[in-house]
Amino acid sequence: MKTEIAHCSGCGHKVRLAFTDPPPRDGHANLPDGAEVVCLDYQEACSGGKCPMTGKAGVVMGVRLAKSHLNDAAFETVHAQCEGCGQVSELEVLDGSLALCTLCNTTNSWVRMKLPDDTEVILTGR
Ligand SMILES: [Zn+2]
Repeated sequence: MKTEIAHCSGCGHKVRLAFTDPPPRDGHANLPDGAEVVCLDYQEACSGGKCPMTGKAGVVMGVRLAKSHLNDAAFETVHAQCEGCGQVSELEVLDGSLALCTLCNTTNSWVRMKLPDDTEVILTGR
């Protein structure tokens, strides 16, 4: 996997970009731009806008990084039941409404609910 350091005008920092191998396409010629760019320095703040490095919506970059598991430390995690696999697992928080299951890579929508006794529960949905 190729990595590159680039200056991101979105967050104003140097970021590490990884170029993943394109997925095999059966019966189709490989497109030259088949490789996905994964920003290893994605931050939750990036989710609100468009990624200037790739032109993708910021949250798309968050999903890519979370699914790649190249920098799991970049994400805050919440403990909740995943709608995809039904397991109680760690979900990597992509933004205020989306979190990705570290077990099955399903994107869950999540909300933090405060109970009357001040404890918090995380509710997930798809
Ligand atoms: Zn799951």
